[in-house]
Amino acid sequence: MVNILVLMTLKSGMGVDNPIWPHPIDMVLHCPVCRNQHIDAPEPAVNWSNPPHRSHLCQVCGTRWRPADVPTNGVTGIWTRGQEDTWPEKK
Ligand SMILES: [Zn+2]
Ligand SMILES: [Zn+2]
Repeated sequence: MVNILVLMTLKSGMGVDNPIWPHPIDMVLHCPVCRNQHIDAPEPAVNWSNPPHRSHLCQVCGTRWRPADVPTNGVTGIWTRGQEDTWPEKK
């Protein structure tokens, strides 16, 4: 998943604003402090277009945290599930 371009970009210190940065990785993210789920989406009311970002801002408690060294996108759920996975519960 992490290709040489990402590694080169990380080493060079280029930020996520660089146009060659790959698409953010969809993840189920929870705030490490208050545990509320973090869903990323554009919020025109506060002039937020949801550009690729690494540090996330919890809308509930104001914590800022970085779950990975690459841009991630908080989603309600991911598309795949392992056969042995125990969470979330099967529907
Ligand atoms: Zn976010
Ligand atoms: Zn929080």
